[in-house]
Amino acid sequence: MTEKERITSPVPIADDLDIDRSLRPLCWDDFVGQTRAVENLKVFLTAARNRGEALDHCLFHGPPGLGKTTLAYLIARELGVEIKVTSGPVLERPGDLAGLLTNLSERDVLFIDEIHRLNNVVEEYLYPAMEDFTLDIMIDKGVSARSVQLTLPRFTLIGATTRAGLLTSPLRARFGVMSRLDYYNAEELFRIIRRSAGILKVEFDEDGALEVARRARGTPRIANRLLRRLRDFAEVEGDGRITLEIARHGLERLEIDPNGLDDMDARIIRAIINNFGGGPVGLGTLAVAVAEEADTIEEIYEPFLIQQGFLERTPRGRKATMKARRLFGKPGDESGQAKLL
Ligand code: ADP
Repeated sequence: MTEKERITSPVPIADDLDIDRSLRPLCWDDFVGQTRAVENLKVFLTAARNRGEALDHCLFHGPPGLGKTTLAYLIARELGVEIKVTSGPVLERPGDLAGLLTNLSERDVLFIDEIHRLNNVVEEYLYPAMEDFTLDIMIDKGVSARSVQLTLPRFTLIGATTRAGLLTSPLRARFGVMSRLDYYNAEELFRIIRRSAGILKVEFDEDGALEVARRARGTPRIANRLLRRLRDFAEVEGDGRITLEIARHGLERLEIDPNGLDDMDARIIRAIINNFGGGPVGLGTLAVAVAEEADTIEEIYEPFLIQQGFLERTPRGRKATMKARRLFGKPGDESGQAKLL
């Protein structure tokens, strides 16, 4: 992975983990945006708390870095309960799940990240746990093997996924609350950067921070990452303050696209314009052209490109918009029908 790819990738990289933790909002006031999802969650939380019950199981879906994990922590904090965190691929055997579930207390939260990657066997164990708060476990082996049913505390499962489409319908049906998280606009990202700068003690000018907000691919994780990198430029090449000039200079040095697109975003648009005459082109063909999985394009890259008005989804395939052609087409080639690269 190049430095540029590391910075613009919405997926967490190793050194995000600590910083994600220190910058993670701990109360609703600090959680910016996603108003509809948040307002509904607050109602469900209050209702559950007033009734002294566990919150219904919640599923958060949407591209990486938009706040799914943050919401899970916030909910547990608001409910005043413990949260246990795991992820789909980590739960290899039913015993791994049983270990977690039997250690929960009444109304606790179990957070399963990448829940679409649970294997079938573990997933089937999860159904009765979610629905009836029971767990069937096998004890002994061979002829004396028998199944024992355990009663679990009433807990809340919070699942997060970037690939809601890959969830099986029985699993999906067991979530009472489903929220989709969307990309943040520049004003919201500006508020996130302002708060993070306060925590990291970074000084900034408003127009400097706005420039970062506009180029952070609508993603808080990327905004926070850019802030840290720009702090380095400000300290070494400026007087420590992120001014507009330092922001532009740093973003240029990091090769961050003026529209906040990452490498793969740009490759997708270029491929449609240069290899397929602007489209429409089928998802499978496009995936081969950019050497990325079709699912990943559909669930991680496409939503941002559509939201930003670069890409259109038509019944015959994906098309580059005029905006994309203007930006990525070769000069003088308004149709975008450029030659194959
Ligand atoms: P996801 O689980 O969707 O991949 P995270 O919840 O880990 O994303 O978010 C990544 C980081 O982005 C968090 O550590 C937090 O600092 C920041 N963040 C995400 N959503 C928000 C928000 N709504 N307001 C402020 N910061 C946010």
